[in-house]
Amino acid sequence: MEFKDFGLHADIERALTAKRYTQPTPIQQQAIPVLLQGRDLCGIAQTGTGKTAAFSLPSLHHMLSNPKPPVPRGCRMLVLSPTRELAAQIAQSCRDYGRFTKLSVSTVFGGVPINRQIRELGQGVDILVATPGRLLDLIDQRALRLDDVDIFVLDEADQMMDMGFIHSLRRVAKLLPAKRQNLFFSATMPKEIAALAKQFLEDPVTVSVTPQATTAEKIRQSVTFVEQKEKQALLHHVLQTQDIDRALIFTRTKHGADRVVRHLKGAGIDAFAIHGNKSQAQRTTALQAFRSGKVKLLVATDIAARGIDVSGVSHVINFEIPNVPEQYVHRIGRTARAGAEGVAISFVAPDEKAYLRDIERVTRTRAEPVKLPEGFSELVRNLPKPVAPPRDTGGQGRNPQRQREDARRGRGGQAGPGAQSDGSQRSGARREGGAVDGQDQRKRRFRPRNKSVGAHKGAVKRVG
Ligand code: AMP
Repeated sequence: MEFKDFGLHADIERALTAKRYTQPTPIQQQAIPVLLQGRDLCGIAQTGTGKTAAFSLPSLHHMLSNPKPPVPRGCRMLVLSPTRELAAQIAQSCRDYGRFTKLSVSTVFGGVPINRQIRELGQGVDILVATPGRLLDLIDQRALRLDDVDIFVLDEADQMMDMGFIHSLRRVAKLLPAKRQNLFFSATMPKEIAALAKQFLEDPVTVSVTPQATTAEKIRQSVTFVEQKEKQALLHHVLQTQDIDRALIFTRTKHGADRVVRHLKGAGIDAFAIHGNKSQAQRTTALQAFRSGKVKLLVATDIAARGIDVSGVSHVINFEIPNVPEQYVHRIGRTARAGAEGVAISFVAPDEKAYLRDIERVTRTRAEPVKLPEGFSELVRNLPKPVAPPRDTGGQGRNPQRQREDARRGRGGQAGPGAQSDGSQRSGARREGGAVDGQDQRKRRFRPRNKSVGAHKGAVKRVG
């Protein structure tokens, strides 16, 4: 099957040719014909499967075939995304696919001044990509109305739930017109997400491109049992012995991410942290540096990493494993993109063993156990000291706009370490508050002291 078989509008076909897309991906093959018929869709697919084009191409086609100007402060297509990064990525895809059309695309998300967004929405837009919090702020300020939405897309619904957006979603649902097309995407479909889907969808067609919560086949997964306080030494060992092109290192907390970066910098290895306490500008800088290969290590919390589409991630390192099994699937799905092979390495402390069992149960796979390297206690003893954390603990580095928003919503800025989960629980507070931003913006280059292929690599097993 080829794209031209769908009969998409000529301007869209031109954009696809310009992007050199010829073959639709499996989710596109299944979803596009159904969406062109105007049906509702429930798609079970992760980022990386081509789902953005799956929902945006037929939607663009619909808008081009039924031209009408958007109403002032309104939009014809609304896409909700859990994170700013994903929202920006979706908007960019829509712009790319619509580049030969006059359709307008706007993004609204928190962490950047709201006034520009209010101005941009004044005349109305064709496609609006938004995160739920800022969307509702704009509605409350009467800068946006949803009664003219023809197409509503809820992306990464499972992540929305994890981040505690359920009430926002219910509010949005009430503001949408009764007659509309609904598209619902989720990487996993546990019962509560299926229930959410039911609230939004009418007689949907369900398409699925990965069996529920199975881990990508091309990822070699390994696990090493290690004391929490010795994980940093193990990370150094892995970085020195693995042949790493680009690695995403996951921690459960923002503090944890900053700490890992400080340790790496102490050893002369450059890395960026990306999490909810970083300003939008810092996140963008970090992502660009990682995308361009300027920095090879990105230390991320789950929320910040969602939706990040960076090709060439050779390794995902779970410095801490997630307490929600589906999150593990999302994390390791960052590697082995587009047919490439990937490696996922998990460090498991004694108190994380229960999480590991949950992950193995849900994914129905067992990662290959890899022992601690020989002479590990020596490595632990000789671990270079971390660079000092920034002195100011008063929230410096936090985005001022976000701080104002948090203050308005009554959210505390300083949470204790125990309160700093990155929203990977199923419920509870979603915002990340309080951790100090430990990023040193001046020093960016990754300079591993000793990069050789070796021991650990040979020990990981391909899971298929
Ligand atoms: P997504 O899952 O929407 O984030 O897409 C993952 C990546 O695949 C993006 O970089 C897209 O540009 C790319 N992509 C989507 N559809 C196709 C296609 N049919 N052929 C080649 N690349 C694609």
